[in-house]
Amino acid sequence: MLVDLHNHTLHHSMDSGLTLDALLARAKERGLDGVCLTEHNAVWKDTARLEEAAARYGVAVFRGMELSTEYGHVLAYGLSAFHPAMLRFDGLCQAVESEGGVLVLAHPQWVTTDRRPGRDLLASSFHGIEVLNGEIANDSNGYVTSTARLLGLFETGGSDAHSLEAVGRCATRFHSPVASDEEMVRELRAGRVTAVRLHPSHNGLGPSKE
Ligand SMILES: [Zn+2]
Ligand SMILES: [Zn+2]
Repeated sequence: MLVDLHNHTLHHSMDSGLTLDALLARAKERGLDGVCLTEHNAVWKDTARLEEAAARYGVAVFRGMELSTEYGHVLAYGLSAFHPAMLRFDGLCQAVESEGGVLVLAHPQWVTTDRRPGRDLLASSFHGIEVLNGEIANDSNGYVTSTARLLGLFETGGSDAHSLEAVGRCATRFHSPVASDEEMVRELRAGRVTAVRLHPSHNGLGPSKE
């Protein structure tokens, strides 16, 4: 089951031009089985709207979040709501611990802050690394992938789509089907996922599997 684990819509991310309908229609065209909405510092609350849209387009819709922390952008799955304390990494870790979520370091090659997590913090507090991102060239020297494997972290792929043309560049293959946010988190925790690039990034690289 192919799920794009990193997408932004204009409904909750100010830097996105994508409506939910446009995202799901293009995801279906591109052969995705599901998308996860990872808005900046926000979680979708209107689950009835998401269920209706998922049924209409035949694409599963999951919910996550992308937090802007002092260690850069962090993808969180399994959290029910945003709280400002999550913008501090220790507050985010507490929320993930109490709710049973997972943390994935987003686009490690794209530095969004002065501080990046070192290997000790990655190993102790992160569960996965986004090794493939639709906005970034492949991990050509293998550094990100080898770090994930060295530390025993799972590897995800996500388009980081903010526009129609970016939808479905990268995805995460779940080895077993998932039908809910809880099942998605369970399979991520178990590491039963593989990152895949489906379409070239804007810089022309792709498709390849890492
Ligand atoms: Zn980001
Ligand atoms: Zn993003």
